[in-house]
Amino acid sequence: MRRLTGRCFCGGVEYAVDDAFVYAAICHCSDCRRTTGSAFKPFAGIEREKFSLTKGGGSLLIYGEAESHNAHCVACGSLLYSLVREAKWVHVAMGTLVDAPTIRPTHHIFVGSKAPWYEITDDLPQYQGHKQ
Ligand SMILES: [Zn+2]
Ligand SMILES: [Zn+2]
Repeated sequence: MRRLTGRCFCGGVEYAVDDAFVYAAICHCSDCRRTTGSAFKPFAGIEREKFSLTKGGGSLLIYGEAESHNAHCVACGSLLYSLVREAKWVHVAMGTLVDAPTIRPTHHIFVGSKAPWYEITDDLPQYQGHKQ
């Protein structure tokens, strides 16, 4: 299995993940806007056991609960990934990948709370909330 690497802005935290993401989407919810400082967050989902921290695992700022949280680098603040779905899945913030994954985002979610100053210009399916 091809492994992808990713890292935070300062390089203090690095991870490895199988190039086997099960889904990928672009989230426009206000939480994703604020955690990234961007108009939206492209993320890719994979089973937790296929993701591992390879550097700086002790340098994470965990925001949220044990089984559901965002993981940032404590030094530079990058949002690296979210632990979701009873801690069984990881949503990798795709902007932190160093290597290009095979998967591409296939749809937009939470378009109902999209930033009014951003216009979606591709033809991917759009959902008001989660994908139905
Ligand atoms: Zn960092
Ligand atoms: Zn979101």
